[in-house]
Amino acid sequence: MGVTLEEKLSRLGAGLYDAETVAELERDLEEIRLLKKKHGAVLLAHNYQRPEIFEVADFVGDSLELARKAAEVSAPVIVFCGVHFMAETAKILCPESRVLLPNLAAGCSLAEAATAEAVRRKAAELRKDYPDLAVVSYVNTTAEVKAVSDVCVTSANAVKIVNALPNETILFLPDRNLAAYVAKNSKKRIIPWEGDCYVHHQLAPKDILETRKAFPKAKVLVHPECRTDVLDLADAILSTSGMIRYAQESDAEEFIVVTECGLSDRLMIEVPHKRFYKSCNLCKYMKMITVPDTRRTLERLAPEIRLSREVMDAARRTITRMLELA
Ligand code: SF4
Repeated sequence: MGVTLEEKLSRLGAGLYDAETVAELERDLEEIRLLKKKHGAVLLAHNYQRPEIFEVADFVGDSLELARKAAEVSAPVIVFCGVHFMAETAKILCPESRVLLPNLAAGCSLAEAATAEAVRRKAAELRKDYPDLAVVSYVNTTAEVKAVSDVCVTSANAVKIVNALPNETILFLPDRNLAAYVAKNSKKRIIPWEGDCYVHHQLAPKDILETRKAFPKAKVLVHPECRTDVLDLADAILSTSGMIRYAQESDAEEFIVVTECGLSDRLMIEVPHKRFYKSCNLCKYMKMITVPDTRRTLERLAPEIRLSREVMDAARRTITRMLELA
């Protein structure tokens, strides 16, 4: 017999989920399975989602993997358990599918840091001095911003794509921390946008140093959205899915996971024979997606992501270019 939901959730710590909550979750999850079947729906979930969401996900991954998966699936309905810009990416790649996001308020501090108009203005101003400027957008941007960019990147492929471009000057947006990481690993002129992920930007060296003192053998895994002084303490700088692979394949038994807390939860559930210490913050946007909201979304087939054909076509060019270069 497989591991029950109660057993999996208990790996996160005793008493976090009481028996009544688990029973309610199980009822909703069963309903979601039936509704998915009825509508031919596929459910995609980001690594930072609540662990109970993973029970009904057809695929769990980071931004790049989810973008690739969205491009592959040909389902009439895609339920996206993640944040708004990710669901937009799924819609851009599957324009004929109905893409549903259980809570439209699930945004992202990075996506909110840049508007298409501001990017257009800044790029025009910079091109006076740097005529070969390329606008490189992290996937954490709105569809409109992607539409005015030259290429899109994720944390897993940003360095590779920037280095593969023929342009020497790059306006990198919207994450200044990821821009600094790319600049360190590239000979190109990187001009950063002044946005940040409020979750990763809050993490400071002292959070890691204290944990490392207690667990000196633990490998420190850090997400590139963290500040440079935090990245400097890393044994490995990895995207969320990169962290999962590293933890599974490494000989090390203990890890300090420096990113959003959902990833440490996923690791504690999926790699139970190793130990994970959290040096993380919760993302309020990712946690807006709940199992009851996901059930209601499948019952009503709403709320739905809607984008103009023009924006979708322009944004798709930047994502397709990324998938080709990556
Ligand atoms: S963790 Fe940061 S980058 Fe990810 S959705 Fe939340 S605010 Fe955005």
